[in-house]
Amino acid sequence: MTAPRLLTSYLRPHRPAVTALVVALLLATALPLMGPQLLRRFVDQAAAGRPLNLLVGTAALYLAVALGGQLVNVVATYFASRLAWTTTNQLREDLVEHILGLDLAFHGEHTPGELIERVDGDVTSLADFLARFLFQVLGSLLLLVGTVVLVLREDLRIGGALIAFLAVAGTMVVRFQQMTVPAATAEREATAQVMGNLEERLAGAEEIRALGAADHVLRRFQEVNATAYRANFAWEVQAGGLLVITNVMFALGTALMLVLGIVFLRNGAFTIGTVLLLFQYTTMVRRPLEQVIQQFKELQKAAAGAARVVQLFAIRPTIVEVADAVALPSAGALDVALERVTFAYPSDPDDAVLHEVSLSLDAGRSLGLVGRTGSGKSTIARLLLRLYESTEGGVRVGGVDLRSVQSASLRSRVQMVTQDVQLFAADLRDNLTLFAGGVDDGRMVSVLGDLGLGEWFASLPEGLDTVLGPGGSGVSAGEAQLLAFARVFLADPGLVILDEASSRLDPATEVLIDQAVDRMLAGRTAVVIAHRLSSLERVDDIAVLDHGRVVEHGPRSVLAADPDSRFGRLLRVARSGVAS
Ligand code: ATP
Ligand code: MG
Repeated sequence: MTAPRLLTSYLRPHRPAVTALVVALLLATALPLMGPQLLRRFVDQAAAGRPLNLLVGTAALYLAVALGGQLVNVVATYFASRLAWTTTNQLREDLVEHILGLDLAFHGEHTPGELIERVDGDVTSLADFLARFLFQVLGSLLLLVGTVVLVLREDLRIGGALIAFLAVAGTMVVRFQQMTVPAATAEREATAQVMGNLEERLAGAEEIRALGAADHVLRRFQEVNATAYRANFAWEVQAGGLLVITNVMFALGTALMLVLGIVFLRNGAFTIGTVLLLFQYTTMVRRPLEQVIQQFKELQKAAAGAARVVQLFAIRPTIVEVADAVALPSAGALDVALERVTFAYPSDPDDAVLHEVSLSLDAGRSLGLVGRTGSGKSTIARLLLRLYESTEGGVRVGGVDLRSVQSASLRSRVQMVTQDVQLFAADLRDNLTLFAGGVDDGRMVSVLGDLGLGEWFASLPEGLDTVLGPGGSGVSAGEAQLLAFARVFLADPGLVILDEASSRLDPATEVLIDQAVDRMLAGRTAVVIAHRLSSLERVDDIAVLDHGRVVEHGPRSVLAADPDSRFGRLLRVARSGVAS
């Protein structure tokens, strides 16, 4: 798909609006072109000493045409803007949907700020451009053609001179256009960098202030800004130079036309009215051509933006649903099997994070994963959710290889509670159901109560309608964890993965969470990643990971009783830690 094809495909559904716009544009072109004709009639009538009422009639017609021209202008602008924004809003939507569907590897490589600039900056410049292109540029071009035709009708030689002049000016413009593309692209990219940098810094405001890194952050920000400034300056200088040259050219063109007109007047070929008409038409081509040239700046931006949008659409998720995908069993616990799974993150393909990991878990059993930080526990969780795909080996859930599972069924049957819980700036109801709806309010309240959040819920000013997350009520880390549990209970999956927060919660909250885990494990298969070994008291099996390898795997009770097992040793260390 190319950028022009992208645009036409988005304009196609709006054919009636496009037609209305074209009609308005034609009128908006025809009316101003009538002005000089009326002026000539007026001047020649006056010079010939025609009666006053005739002159007044011509003047009134001139006024009506001028007013009509303005009115049509307004209508055409309205249609153009509306069209531009309805089509590009659709594009924004499609783009966001596309980005959300892309692999996590993609999201790892692009900051949210950069993607915001893609969806908002690039598409907005496209919308601006469309609005202006559809109206100003197209209208200006029509006006140019109309003027040339009318001047040709007066005198072929003068018309020829005008065409030659416009051709020279046009060629120069095209030259400049090609020259400014790289500068325009660099400018857009530098701006995206600034946005990305800013977003990242603002998101990390708490850490940055706590660590006193503000100076360093500001210095980096200054550097990024300086690059953006240089890119912008280079591009503005190029575009500005183009404008100056065109202005000078037009002054020369008008002077030439006046000289020619006077010569034709002297030898009696033209009336004074015709000289005035030619003078007016010559000054009239100046504005549309300047406008077209000015729009070339926008055209650069829009073309660069459109190209990046097309590029973004061309990136395909690698993790997709196959045509004959099957659904997981819709109820009951799901068994899990990792078969010789080797995995490396796409950002670092040579450095495997998991090596031939084989683990299996019968339906309804629970597995505790332990291992040092960085040993690959969360990575296994991501593979079970098919956020990434194993490089070698396979992952089966409910007896189905994840590569052939329907994504919707995987999302509803396998759920995870992660280390950092994402709350949205939405009401509690939407935060609990993740905007899915269709869940009974009473059930939500009872689940919150079961999890020990009853008192917290009662304190909320507007119950389930209370807005949480950014801009809403603050939620503590422990409450957020429990809310994440509530989400899982409401979704009722067959496999849960708990990736426990390593940060310590207060003992009362820990008790609540342990109770929640207990309830979670009943009737479900579970993988529990725990930093606190006490969280593992209720799992059936234990697997110990070390540098991406399973170094120990067996029933918890057996391993705990064996003083030489790694798990046994971990337990002893943990107990002596508590004792000391
Ligand atoms: P923790 O106990 O600290 O949560 P973990 O056992 O969950 O650690 P993982 O998050 O699975 O560890 O990470 C395993 C390895 O993979 C680490 O070396 C880490 O640096 C690397 N890693 C994790 N996420 C990514 C990523 N998105 N891209 C590249 N490498 C990653
Ligand atoms: Mg982890």
